[in-house]
Amino acid sequence: MNLILFGPPGVGKGTQAELLRDFYHLHHISTGDMLRAAIKGGTPLGLEAQKFVESGGLVPDTVIIGLVREVLEEDKKAGKGFLLDGFPRTVAQAEALEKLFQDLHIEDVRIVMIEAPEEELITRMLKRGQDSGRVDDSEATIRHRLDVYNEQTAPVRTFYSTHRSIKTVNGLGTKEEVSDRIRKTIA
Ligand code: AMP
Repeated sequence: MNLILFGPPGVGKGTQAELLRDFYHLHHISTGDMLRAAIKGGTPLGLEAQKFVESGGLVPDTVIIGLVREVLEEDKKAGKGFLLDGFPRTVAQAEALEKLFQDLHIEDVRIVMIEAPEEELITRMLKRGQDSGRVDDSEATIRHRLDVYNEQTAPVRTFYSTHRSIKTVNGLGTKEEVSDRIRKTIA
């Protein structure tokens, strides 16, 4: 099985991805984590991505699609299922992913959207900013990321409801409650 976790920033995709990774033994692919590691390491990717990530904008599609393609090719070779967290974030990325699934003969892809009210997302991200020091978890950048989500990422949901099927799960409650809901949804 392969899984795409979809939803707005701050909804708990990362937390849920870790629980689901352990439960289903999937390779957790977080494009946000990959970009933050590249920035920290000062790699060419990091240097290119830094200004987008820190300002709460999106890294260009070509860059991020190339990155995901490499990882999925490796997973396919290794025969490992994947869990995508934070990708796709634009319709162009979702289209490129469909092409990649075709090229690599990847089947059994399930898509789950986690949702929560915007005020809850802001509260969670502000708390994460205080706890982890993530520079994009400051109030102005959080608002910008929500705008970017509404304008560029929310249309991906419509794309999937047309081209595949996407199940929606309530993201409020404990992480175990949300995880149970997701597992029941994809079972
Ligand atoms: P995340 O950890 O998923 O919230 O991602 C943090 C930041 O990394 C985002 O605000 C973007 O700047 C960048 N990023 C992560 N995934 C993508 C993606 N699929 N496309 C473009 N930018 C991304």
